[in-house]
Amino acid sequence: MPSFDYLANRLAQWSSQHRLRTLVPRQPQGVEFVDAAGRRLVNFGSNDYLGLATSGLPIASLPRESGSTASALVCGWTPLHHQLAETIAELESTESAVLFPSGYAACSGTVATLAEAGDLILSDALNHASLIDGCRLSRAECVVYPHRDHEFVASVLKQRRHEFTRVWIVTDGVFSMDGDVAPLVELCDVADPFDASLIVDEAHGTGVLGEMGSGLCEALGVKDRVAIRIGTLSKAIGCQGGFVVAPKVVTDYLVNRCRSLIFSTALAPSTVAASITAFESLNSEPERRHRVQSLAQHVREQLSISTSCAIENSVPIVPLIIGEDADAMAAAETLAEAGFFVPAIRPPTVPPGTARLRLSLSASHSDAMVESLLRAIKKSGILTVG
Ligand code: PMP
Repeated sequence: MPSFDYLANRLAQWSSQHRLRTLVPRQPQGVEFVDAAGRRLVNFGSNDYLGLATSGLPIASLPRESGSTASALVCGWTPLHHQLAETIAELESTESAVLFPSGYAACSGTVATLAEAGDLILSDALNHASLIDGCRLSRAECVVYPHRDHEFVASVLKQRRHEFTRVWIVTDGVFSMDGDVAPLVELCDVADPFDASLIVDEAHGTGVLGEMGSGLCEALGVKDRVAIRIGTLSKAIGCQGGFVVAPKVVTDYLVNRCRSLIFSTALAPSTVAASITAFESLNSEPERRHRVQSLAQHVREQLSISTSCAIENSVPIVPLIIGEDADAMAAAETLAEAGFFVPAIRPPTVPPGTARLRLSLSASHSDAMVESLLRAIKKSGILTVG
């Protein structure tokens, strides 16, 4: 056996820095779970923003097949997959949609496939790892711009546009660890004169933002200006998988060339059926997104962290910045003792010195749950640590 001492040494070092991650089993019980120590905690750490993953959405006819048996291109694509793609394209008002095994596969694969040698990618400094990995896998040159800095993007385009065949501006819509939103109108304005294309990851916007619930692009009125939008089925939709909505020529190209779609097994039919039901509920139960939006506004107001942007205040991700890793871990434990799971997020997921509690809200949280969490946060003095 080779020696893996070097790995053990790194793990020991991370442990001493409060940065070691472990997989802890949790027994879900609706919007609560029982942790390994037997504590029943209200879950304020999930991305189940509409409560669709945990509230037992009735699925009309669950297929018997637990697996799709092959890549979508071989024999893994069923009429149900087709129906889900059409449902998503309709909600998103795009010509076409294509499904991926995960949001990670959709983001990384799309960027890696579309951005070619001779192209430039402009990528927000706080983009999700899946977009970052797409940039790394692509053969394009990548410039990382300061978070949300559209003026920086404009200055790079002015100076360097002529050097490249195509330019891609790649950004999260809602940023997953900060709960803030990309300046999409400004980025579109900057991109247009330089014939640059935006690729927006709507992972945390789908189902939550916009009149119809299609995401941040809808909420900001730029759906028809952002040609390529990526989403996940794993957050507000409450299932698993990813998708890209785009003109048909783009989705046809991805079907032919995108490695994370071609060389991975298609989504399980049962997951696809559950996703179709979840998308139907975006239409039939708009009250779910209205509720989670108003909970987000209320919590931000109560914790005095509202911003001047109304859309941002409706985002159900509320970061409580603590600073040091050990303090963030201690804060999470204080809240766990009070009956709440609010995960501590540490480097390398967030920059050093910005460890935080990531509080996420769901339409399934009762008023009483939210009020007692707010009381526990205020009582603990967590917000004065950083
Ligand atoms: N993009 C963002 C912004 C995310 O937060 C995530 C999941 N954490 C993904 C993409 C990947 O989605 P999935 O979990 O479906 O792979």
